[in-house]
Amino acid sequence: LPICHGANERRPVTIKEFQRRALNIQGVYLPDVLDILKEIFNVSSVDVIIDGDKELDSRSIEILDRLNKKEPSAYIIGHIQFAGMTIKVNPNVLIPRMETEELVLNLCETIDFSNKKILDLCCGSGCIGLSIAKRFPSSTVILSDISKEAINVAEENKRINDINNATFVVSDFLESIKDKFDYIISNPPYIPEGTKTETSYEPDLALFSGIDGLDSYRKIINKLPFVLKEKGEAFFEIEDGREDDLLSIVDRQGIYKGIIKKDLANKARFMYLKKKIS
Ligand code: GLN
Repeated sequence: LPICHGANERRPVTIKEFQRRALNIQGVYLPDVLDILKEIFNVSSVDVIIDGDKELDSRSIEILDRLNKKEPSAYIIGHIQFAGMTIKVNPNVLIPRMETEELVLNLCETIDFSNKKILDLCCGSGCIGLSIAKRFPSSTVILSDISKEAINVAEENKRINDINNATFVVSDFLESIKDKFDYIISNPPYIPEGTKTETSYEPDLALFSGIDGLDSYRKIINKLPFVLKEKGEAFFEIEDGREDDLLSIVDRQGIYKGIIKKDLANKARFMYLKKKIS
């Protein structure tokens, strides 16, 4: 009996059956399933209701397997929507989070990046820097990452989104950055080494940074005076609960004043640095 059952499970499934099986997997939610149906099978949420008995092709079984192995739907689909752009993602880059989108949208609304020089440090997919470059065509955006594989993804995202004012540098944090910038924006790795995460598919390089998770900020903040212009400012994504530790790193360095901002979920999520007035 189990063999029979197993053989049956390999047959392509109907839309309804796909949805039922996917939603049975722990950590898979309706929006993920609807995204997969739309982006991979071109099945809309209306089709799910009126055409639920239609059979999907053989990819349906392969996708259920991947979901079962906890692969994020964004990697299965291969792209996400971010601040109005399509951003390609694969396991070489972190899947951009809503909090990062909030950071970008806030910055684009409050700062005029026209004619400014901007660095997206630890750019991953390029979502931050490319969003700014796209909205401010007169800005000059440099995106850097230690991972050449990540830079390849970011370069493709530049092409996909028709952006002309962005260039790329492979750099271990600020090691290979020679210019001075008006704005530096970074969502660096900030999870303490050894922490268990929901999926093992995302790159460790993009997530973990030292035993307390703050090595990345120490490295960046200590070199900041060499890469920020006199009136330059830096913006970081941070982890809620780490704001006091971060502010003391800033304090010890001595040149900048740090301001913490909360996100829409009321968590301390962003840190802004500007030069103290002397
Ligand atoms: N916010 C991400 C997470 O919770 C971590 C991103 C990062 O380390 N910069 O998985």
